[in-house]
Amino acid sequence: MTRLAKGICSLAIVVSVPAFGQPASAPLSTNDPVKVLVSRLDLEKYKATIKGLTQFGDRLQGTERNRRAVDWIEAQLKRYGCANVERVTFISSVPPQPSQQSVGTPPNSLIATGEIRSGVGGSRLRGVTRPTTPNNDPAAQPNLALRALNSEPSASGPQDEVYCTKVGATRPDEMYIVGAHMDGRGFGEAANDNGSGTALVMELARVFNSPDVVTERSIRFALWNNEEFGYDGSRAYVTQRSPLQGKEGPPGSGKYPEPRWLGMIQHDMMLWDHGMPRPDGTVSPEQRPEADVNIEFQSISKFADDAMKLAFFFREANEKYATDYPAAIGNHMANTDSVLFMDLVPAISLRESERGMQIGAGWNPHWHRPTDVYSTYSDKDFRLGLNAAQTTLGAIAQLTGAMLK
Ligand SMILES: [Zn+2]
Repeated sequence: MTRLAKGICSLAIVVSVPAFGQPASAPLSTNDPVKVLVSRLDLEKYKATIKGLTQFGDRLQGTERNRRAVDWIEAQLKRYGCANVERVTFISSVPPQPSQQSVGTPPNSLIATGEIRSGVGGSRLRGVTRPTTPNNDPAAQPNLALRALNSEPSASGPQDEVYCTKVGATRPDEMYIVGAHMDGRGFGEAANDNGSGTALVMELARVFNSPDVVTERSIRFALWNNEEFGYDGSRAYVTQRSPLQGKEGPPGSGKYPEPRWLGMIQHDMMLWDHGMPRPDGTVSPEQRPEADVNIEFQSISKFADDAMKLAFFFREANEKYATDYPAAIGNHMANTDSVLFMDLVPAISLRESERGMQIGAGWNPHWHRPTDVYSTYSDKDFRLGLNAAQTTLGAIAQLTGAMLK
């Protein structure tokens, strides 16, 4: 039996929710603890956490504004009662400087229509696509206060990232890792990429660490640093901590500094699903009514089969617990921190669109641009991120056997 299957099979024992595989239309138990936990997520709280992250501008790695954001996240996690906050230190790579890259690329120039081209992760790009060149020019930010906030250039050197852990009551030696990268780029506020994923993970940390919540298994809430220029933070975590899995420390203590990994769930860009660019290269200003949460696994990963099962378990959780938007599944997970985990453990990512054929085709005109600021997004956008939070919370609560005291 695989690790994941073992986790799923035990659901029926530890949680009073419909068994895995039961149709989502089955009536929910009125005392479903998962439903109670999901109801503790809130659009205004989610928005406030994103807004809190934007006070540190684009949180470019290797800057004071990035370090201050790490400190702020740490303080928030402690405030939520996720007391076991720890840090991983790593040496970062240096991002390209403005002089090394083209600057001010016109974001609306159309690059292709009609032909099918290959994209990242095994994806195929179809239809109208737009350029996805990141902005590397600080002066492209029209808001002068924000431009000043983002003025310090990146530097290499030691950096930190934080994580905290909800320790399982009966299986503290096993955990799911729920992650997002907290750094950004583009000289805006990195509100969507990736304030939206970071805030989602922080909101889940808040709900799961409420004093009346018990889980059988452990959950780690990880906010990776420097995803944007080389996955340095998640790579350091995997390198430093993978060998420690499942070891009791100190022996006889009942404590597990690195519980055995059961799955890794990444959140990266959660808000914007406005559809394919129009034939003239412009993009609809409104969230499309058929917007969905895109859950992706990687079909060439070592744990592809279990990752696919995990993805469908998340889709089922979405059907049970998400209030507004459905979920779709793809097999080309790419270009985010979960890739570092996918050959070690079943790993999936949740996003606003598929990374390869949609984000990679320029569906989000604010991606890595000065316009990725809080005020760009409407409640319909923020609500898509909230629905991803409901999906992950609903799935992880079941997988870890969450109960109310
Ligand atoms: Zn990202």
